[in-house]
Amino acid sequence: MNEPQTVEHGVVVSLEYTLQVDDEVVETTEEDGPIEFLQGYEEIIPGLERAIYGMRVGQEKEVTVEPSEGYGEYDGEAFEEVPLDIFPDDMDLELGMPVELYDEDTDETVEGYIAEIRTDTVVVDLNHPLAGETLRFRVKVVGMRSATDEELAHGHAHGHDMDEDL
Ligand code: ZN
Repeated sequence: MNEPQTVEHGVVVSLEYTLQVDDEVVETTEEDGPIEFLQGYEEIIPGLERAIYGMRVGQEKEVTVEPSEGYGEYDGEAFEEVPLDIFPDDMDLELGMPVELYDEDTDETVEGYIAEIRTDTVVVDLNHPLAGETLRFRVKVVGMRSATDEELAHGHAHGHDMDEDL
């Protein structure tokens, strides 16, 4: 079986990266090691996925990703005001704290973070923390392999924990 030589659709890629926003490092694989994902299946943000097509193992690249290709534009409407008493009594609510809200209508859990604590309610910002930010990645392809049939069927790589934020 021929192993892939360049990053292409349906290849499992191992990638090291450092993500900077406004010259500040906000994420890096330095400690936990590279992420592994199935290229072309939207496991990572679109702007980064697009930029690494054709890269070879060992190759490094700087990639700038605009919000529309990253975590989206900041949506000033994407707030939810919820009753304070839906949170457990012993939970110390703080500004910026990540929370999960269950939406009965859609039967889905949405993630957000606390933007404001009022007398009887909490305002949750549903924007991704990096929404509206221009992302500067330094990436290095450290490995690649053919995907298994199962991985292609599932649409994601197996065998490594995936950072769902990327
Ligand atoms: Zn799977």
